[in-house]
Amino acid sequence: MLSKNDKIFKNIYGFSGFGLNVAKSLGDWDNTKSIILKGKDWILEEVKKSGLRGRGGAGFPTGLKWSFMPKELKDKPHYVVINADESEPGTCKDREIIRNEPYKLIEGILYASVAMQAHTAYIYIRGEFFNEYNALERAIKECYENGLLGKNILKTGWDLDIFVHRGAGAYICGEESALLESLEGKKGQPRLKPPFPANVGLYGCPTTVSNVETVSVVPEILRRGGSWFSSLGNDNNTGTKLFCISGHVNSPCTVEEEMGISLKELINKHANGVRGGWTELKAVIPGGSSTPLLPASMCNNLKMDFDSLKALKSGLGTAGVIVMNKSTDLIKAITRLSRFYNHESCGQCTPCREGTGWILKMMNRLCQGNARIDDIDKLNDVCSQVENHTICALGDAAAWPVQGLIRHFRGEIEKRILDNSLRKSAE
Ligand code: SF4
Repeated sequence: MLSKNDKIFKNIYGFSGFGLNVAKSLGDWDNTKSIILKGKDWILEEVKKSGLRGRGGAGFPTGLKWSFMPKELKDKPHYVVINADESEPGTCKDREIIRNEPYKLIEGILYASVAMQAHTAYIYIRGEFFNEYNALERAIKECYENGLLGKNILKTGWDLDIFVHRGAGAYICGEESALLESLEGKKGQPRLKPPFPANVGLYGCPTTVSNVETVSVVPEILRRGGSWFSSLGNDNNTGTKLFCISGHVNSPCTVEEEMGISLKELINKHANGVRGGWTELKAVIPGGSSTPLLPASMCNNLKMDFDSLKALKSGLGTAGVIVMNKSTDLIKAITRLSRFYNHESCGQCTPCREGTGWILKMMNRLCQGNARIDDIDKLNDVCSQVENHTICALGDAAAWPVQGLIRHFRGEIEKRILDNSLRKSAE
């Protein structure tokens, strides 16, 4: 279990209060001037050394991503953009950071701006996060008033302005290039890549989009050293992580733990166990709604990190853990997700636009048992034709939950079809 001393988010539920002074008393904004003066190469090196992988879902190494930006500022400005559009069902970690510890995010943006030579940063926040938006604006204002943002920050000669932009509720704007389109005032649709944002991003300028949690842990990494962070967790899956535990647990929560903690420990220690006890567990979606579910039989020794979950054909994603006990109608639950992805498809590419509709129609039929056994293979086939054939990852996100259901609970789907046909023939 993560020791109190190694926790980065000490006020994630806001129990210690709100404000710059509270944040400083908990260790934020400590040694800021000397960190800025150490310069971009040192910051990049420490972030690389920490092994930090993006906390937005993809798990791409953060130091490497930041180093894709042009080395020097030339004729075009550089931008840092923060993805605070947290919309993945089951995920509620960035919201807690912004609501209760926005100062960590702002400090992290400052160091990211030095590392990437950006004097302007944008925070794209999910429109529905109204209270969080207010908290963020209040925190930014306080930072300006205390010389932590604006011109010549802490007399280091470094300038940074941060602007907050509210989205309008489209899930797809959490995809980085759709986010940039939306920020530019256009329809939020993903761009074809390449070019990647580090070369052609916001307003055609070099841009790096980073997740809220990713950037918020950077100040602590720089204060305590990349090697401190990499000593937590395990190889290639270092550090701590915020896990959001929801569904059939006794105490749903968002909690910081060491990467690689076992799922059982996570649920039993922090969420007060599965409702009805561990033996009542039926399945878990480990990393937000797009990651394939895993049956209870795979959960006993399950390690919660990127590589362990990938090896089981699932993923850590956003670490939004959705627990389902035996009272769950899994086919209905996954159908609900299919409806979500169908609704959120931006419609730009055919496999996603049409495929998510077909998947939903077939899932609705499976839900009722109103299908043939070979429809299950047909559905699997449709999913594999959507997966990896689209502009952005929403196509994969629509296919994976259904593929996971078929992989692990085919028997349950077949039983529903057979029960339904028996009922029909008896009528
Ligand atoms: Fe839009 Fe779906 Fe294509 Fe992504 S995969 S660009 S959401 S149509």
